[in-house]
Amino acid sequence: MKKTLFSLALLALGSTGMTYAQTDYQADSVFIRQIFNSALSDGRSYEWLRDLTQKVGPRLSGSEGAAKAVEYTRDAIVNAKFDNVFLQNVMVPHWVRGAKEKAYIISGKQKINVPIAALGGSVATPKGGTKAKVIEVKNFQELRALGTEKVKGKIVFFNRPMDPTKINTFEAYSGAVDQRGAGASEAAKLGAIGAIVRSMTTRLDDTPHTGSMRYASGAPIIPAAAISTNGAELLSKLIKENADTEIFFEQFSETLPDAPSHNVIGELKGSQNPAQYIVVGGHLDSWDFAQGAHDDGSGCVQSIEAVRLLKDLGYKPKNTLRAVMFMNEENGLRGGVAYADSAKSKKEKHIAAIESDRGGFTPLGFGVVGTPAQKAKIASWSKLFAAYGIHELGPGGGGADIGPLAQQGTVLLGLIPDSQRYFDYHHASNDTFDTISKRELELGGAAMAAMMYLIDKYGVE
Ligand SMILES: [Zn+2]
Repeated sequence: MKKTLFSLALLALGSTGMTYAQTDYQADSVFIRQIFNSALSDGRSYEWLRDLTQKVGPRLSGSEGAAKAVEYTRDAIVNAKFDNVFLQNVMVPHWVRGAKEKAYIISGKQKINVPIAALGGSVATPKGGTKAKVIEVKNFQELRALGTEKVKGKIVFFNRPMDPTKINTFEAYSGAVDQRGAGASEAAKLGAIGAIVRSMTTRLDDTPHTGSMRYASGAPIIPAAAISTNGAELLSKLIKENADTEIFFEQFSETLPDAPSHNVIGELKGSQNPAQYIVVGGHLDSWDFAQGAHDDGSGCVQSIEAVRLLKDLGYKPKNTLRAVMFMNEENGLRGGVAYADSAKSKKEKHIAAIESDRGGFTPLGFGVVGTPAQKAKIASWSKLFAAYGIHELGPGGGGADIGPLAQQGTVLLGLIPDSQRYFDYHHASNDTFDTISKRELELGGAAMAAMMYLIDKYGVE
């Protein structure tokens, strides 16, 4: 009840032109305008992203590309003249795709090639490939109802689409991604010899979308691949016409020993509380066949830009501000875990962390994970963001890489851009620089800078 009254009081203040207590709304409004003006007229993030996607390119953990991305972003931070830049060691999984996969459907006399991609973490098929009759299911319940008798020796085809009626496409993704993550083991428990999963995308196209999968302990290990959505539609149609439809696929992926890698950290020292930190971050790794422009090159360059904007506008932070490029979000989260472990052992108090990992699209809000009072405080800054089309401060929030900081009570924020086109490109070879809008990218970086500024100035308590 008290909290409700508190929120109402804030709303009442909003209607009189003051959206939060005891602060200089006018000065903040002017400074945030400067942040956006600077980002939109003199921003650096777009050119950094051009280099990261086109000169460095794909950068899956353990790869040469990932090592180059570490060097590239470190240099970018050095050139932007932060107070300090350093690398944090982290051992990462090292999975490699190997030669390009092959797949075709055999139905009656027809033999039709379809685009597939091994799922991250999957084993190879046996030499010469795997061929078997295909069993289509929409979910694990349906699979289990078929039982060992019908599944043994077959290839299971998981074909439940992302729900197109979800306005937040991340909800649609959450509702479908269990097929990719756990489908192979669920099928293997019933004797299947392979798993083919409909790509996690909201559109129909010929581009397979990969992503990580994991083997359940105790289940037989079978190969798993994503099929393009057009391929999935075709396969489903052919199975309906001919229940004896088979699929052949061959892939060459393998997991090598863990490899050394790094998080990249740039910082501006705090003038009052240098041992207290506010982080903005994204993840530096991308899938092996993707430039990772949206996922998550955007989040990386926006993070560096957020700190740079504050520095170049002459802002002197009270707390130490960090831009963190986390390594290995896609297939292990080792960077995020290593960062939080290091913060804990060095007793670095993290006030808040802001992650951008939902694409470089028009920012619409921030999700906030914190106590009701912390959320109310951040929501009280809404009016400062409204001029920039950012209206949602609260629902959703956080990010995978900053998640491990929750153990020390850090407030976690996630930049929330428009999600409608994100899964067109997610984990696919078409996640390229040319799909990035310079302005949309810059608005996101500026929004992160503004949020970082307000948290630094007013805290979150
Ligand atoms: Zn990502």
